[in-house]
Amino acid sequence: DNAIDIEKAEQNNLKGLDVSIPHGKITVCTGPSGSGKSSLAFETVYAEGQRRYTESMSAYSRQYVKQMAKPKVEGIDGLLASIAIEQKSHAGNPRSTIGTMTEAYDYLRVLFAHLGIAYCPETGEKIRSISKQYVLDRLMELPEKTKVQILAPLELKESFEALKQRLLKEGFLRIRVNGEIFELDAEIPFDKRRKNELLLVIDRLVVAPQAKKRLFDAIDTAAKLAQNTLVAHFDDKDTFYNLAFAVPSTGKSYPPITPHTFSFNTQHGMCFDCTGLGFQFGANLQKHRVIMRMSPYALMKKLWKDYATRDALDLFEEMMEELGIDPDCPLEKLPAKDLQIILAGSDIHLKQKGYKVRFNGLGPVFSKLAKSATNSLKQELSPWVDQITCPTCEGTRLNPLARNVRIQDYSISDVCALPLDQAQTFIENITLEDHLLDETLSQLKRRLHFLNSIGLDYLSLDRSAPTLSGGETQRIRLARQLGSWLTGCLYVLDEPTIGLHPHNNALLNSSLKKLCEQGNTLLLVEHDPLTVGIADYILDFGPAAGKHGGEIMARGTLQEIIKNPKSLTGAYLSGKKKIPIPKVRRTSNHFLKIENAHLHNLKHITLDIPIGIITCLTGVSGSGK
Ligand SMILES: [Zn+2]
Repeated sequence: DNAIDIEKAEQNNLKGLDVSIPHGKITVCTGPSGSGKSSLAFETVYAEGQRRYTESMSAYSRQYVKQMAKPKVEGIDGLLASIAIEQKSHAGNPRSTIGTMTEAYDYLRVLFAHLGIAYCPETGEKIRSISKQYVLDRLMELPEKTKVQILAPLELKESFEALKQRLLKEGFLRIRVNGEIFELDAEIPFDKRRKNELLLVIDRLVVAPQAKKRLFDAIDTAAKLAQNTLVAHFDDKDTFYNLAFAVPSTGKSYPPITPHTFSFNTQHGMCFDCTGLGFQFGANLQKHRVIMRMSPYALMKKLWKDYATRDALDLFEEMMEELGIDPDCPLEKLPAKDLQIILAGSDIHLKQKGYKVRFNGLGPVFSKLAKSATNSLKQELSPWVDQITCPTCEGTRLNPLARNVRIQDYSISDVCALPLDQAQTFIENITLEDHLLDETLSQLKRRLHFLNSIGLDYLSLDRSAPTLSGGETQRIRLARQLGSWLTGCLYVLDEPTIGLHPHNNALLNSSLKKLCEQGNTLLLVEHDPLTVGIADYILDFGPAAGKHGGEIMARGTLQEIIKNPKSLTGAYLSGKKKIPIPKVRRTSNHFLKIENAHLHNLKHITLDIPIGIITCLTGVSGSGK
């Protein structure tokens, strides 16, 4: 009973198979394409595992998950919690990166929150603590008779009613709720379901030399009540002070640095111009010959469609005249500076019936549209706009403060942009004074080491999920599982070695063994002889594809498979069967010449590729093929 026992599996082409998959071992399904390997591994064993899992949920939860169809099988005993790591990359979310997929970024955030030194994004000064005297001096510099309120930001830890009573007892009179001031003993409208901004009014005074002592007392009280923070309200504006964390020369305060500061998927950390995506939309009209052949006037008419009034078109013509642009000249024939104005606008104003009108250019209009448009409009616009790296955050997805927290001159985005092998070196060079972060650091090292060891050293943590190949995605998911320390699970993997060079393959295999040694059961669909070699148990499917397959031709250890005369795979593994290498190779007299190729990591390569015959490019993963 130390096995997953499958009785009469008939999914797809499976011919009523009885199979036993040992717990805590690596089992490999091999055999010709279409012979039924995936039907057993994914569509029977994994599917049933998932189905039982969702079945165990409450009816309420079940309505939110996709129900799996029951696979065609008589019975499965000894099934474990199942996790599939497939090739299919449905990780199309532009918000996930290698860093978030492997959780390496989460550990980096913790590391930067603890060890990072924050610098002011505006002045470059180190952000540090400031004194109450400093705040007092700044406020005393305001013109005499300026009205100032000193407020203490409050966090609601009890019910609002209890807070009111407590503050009244402590002798306070007024509170500001979402911008409006109320007497504490009055009826105060309060909606506990929304996020409320609560500020306790400490004092209201007028700037004057004799008010200095009272002002200092107010600052002191506020800072004590609100963990070293306070708000000074004057000239209809709030100025926030964080005594523990401010810029000495300007007094500008920042919220404390926490792991959230670096989270580009939340308000705390995201770049506001691209909402943490790292890219924006920009118009790329120059790419389209059809558009470039149009005149500014014709293009305007096309864009406005039926909405253009005579007045609007007249205004456009006047504007072009003012700017010195010929509205009837095709865009491609316009001087560069005129084309630039059409795309990016101009500062020149046209006075019209008392209004000042300025031409903003088409670029910003398109980008704005693409950002906010409905999906159908987006689709229509997509040929005219390009994704461009967000100029504000330079593609780092983070807000200015997050980008200016550094460990040894490196910001978190600098580390994420490094190739993974260099990122690993950076992390390994970090020394810790206390042991608080030992676990964080070792988790990070573990993940980076694994990614590098399976030949992904050419990638970086900031690579976004949609740009990865299926094989890369699967190996990255594997990195996450290895770090999760789950035990007693069944992992079902689909050709984990696909696209890997044999050199990297050995490293991947040792990782698979490690996953198994953690107390898990592995079920692999695989052809690669090296990986078949690490199997404790092999199921060799055959004899052919489709309805001619669905049987298990041989089962057992590698040695048993090799000896089994019925096994096609065994015959290849033992060398009895071979893919014949042709004695004579074809040649060609015509060549495709490539000179000085230097895309990505190519080192100015010049080569000839023969035409009309087959050429093969090979080498380790990421070497430039
Ligand atoms: Zn941005």
